[in-house]
Amino acid sequence: MMSALRRSLPRIPSVWKPVRSQQTWTPIRHFSGSPIPRASWGFVGLGQMGYPMARNLRAKIPATDSMTIYDINESATSQFVEEANGAGAGASVTIAKSLQDVSRDSDTVITMLPQPKHVQAVYEEFIAGGLDNTTPRLFIDCSTIDVKTSLEVGSAIRVLGHDFVDAPVSGGVVGATAATLTFMLGASNAVVGKAQPILEKMGKRVIHMGEPGTGIVGKLANNYLLAMNNLATAEAMNFGIKLGLDAKTLASLINCSTGKCWPSEVNNPVPGVIEGAPSSRGYQGGFGVSLMAKDLKLAIAAAELADAKLVLAEPAQKLYEGAEAHDDCKGRDFSVVYKYLQVADK
Ligand code: NAD
Repeated sequence: MMSALRRSLPRIPSVWKPVRSQQTWTPIRHFSGSPIPRASWGFVGLGQMGYPMARNLRAKIPATDSMTIYDINESATSQFVEEANGAGAGASVTIAKSLQDVSRDSDTVITMLPQPKHVQAVYEEFIAGGLDNTTPRLFIDCSTIDVKTSLEVGSAIRVLGHDFVDAPVSGGVVGATAATLTFMLGASNAVVGKAQPILEKMGKRVIHMGEPGTGIVGKLANNYLLAMNNLATAEAMNFGIKLGLDAKTLASLINCSTGKCWPSEVNNPVPGVIEGAPSSRGYQGGFGVSLMAKDLKLAIAAAELADAKLVLAEPAQKLYEGAEAHDDCKGRDFSVVYKYLQVADK
């Protein structure tokens, strides 16, 4: 499937060259007068997801290892170092002065960034810093981005003799905090054994989807389905309630019938149906409506690469983008589309 995908991709810009060789990865070990080998870790993007992921990673690596972190938001990095120092034990953490310092100083680098343009800019910096291949490194991108950018960045890293895998996640901030994330791994068989134990420090499940790029495809397919289930649940609950049904009774019926899905059962969009769900606390927290609008856009772009028809995509995208822009809905959990059905066009 990925070869079909690659054939349909536009020409790769000259800065991103195709894969020529696959080199065996071994961690860079630093010996500083100590008999214990020291591994070095880099983490870029300490936002809602990256911060708790980096915290879990640090907690599970040997105290003799070192960790270098970087984020354009300096308060995130200084808070992380403060917390790490406060914890006493554990690997030492340093704030990198630049992205180039992260890639130069780390044998494994994990990136968790918002959008394709951020991932592209960060990896361009890594490459501009000079990645000598006498010490092959492993780069793991956990961001949810588009297939094309991920393949291009991966090729550009691999041609320099390093490994790159795509490993987007599912499980949200709760899963990132509890280290229960599911990783969808796109990696050649030779690299799976290196990436998997690292991802298991931050999550519960690692599903190897196939070659590079397939982790992203899996993530986007899942989130497309989630976007539709969420919207369909909101519409079904809305018209049922408007026709006189009690919200909790309707949700109970759906949840023991064939319409049951995660948005109906766990993240029901109607306030008061599920205690603790974002809808029952003013749609605060959870998975932002803007992230869902972004993922839907990326899924549509991925489907276009393979000429796969998505008949539900256009009206759903319009609705999510409408909710994202509406004063009563922006910045809220994506289940706020239920509220948007009430407030739109008013
Ligand atoms: P976020 O916006 O909270 O964090 C992103 C971090 O990246 C920020 O701290 C930002 O300052 C930093 N950053 C941006 N550009 C940078 C650069 N050039 N160099 C260094 N740092 C930079 O986003 P998030 O919620 O943590 O999401 C990260 C990724 O995970 C996204 O791709 C998102 O779609 C995906 N994701 C999010 C969730 C969720 O529930 N939030 C769930 C699954 C997947």
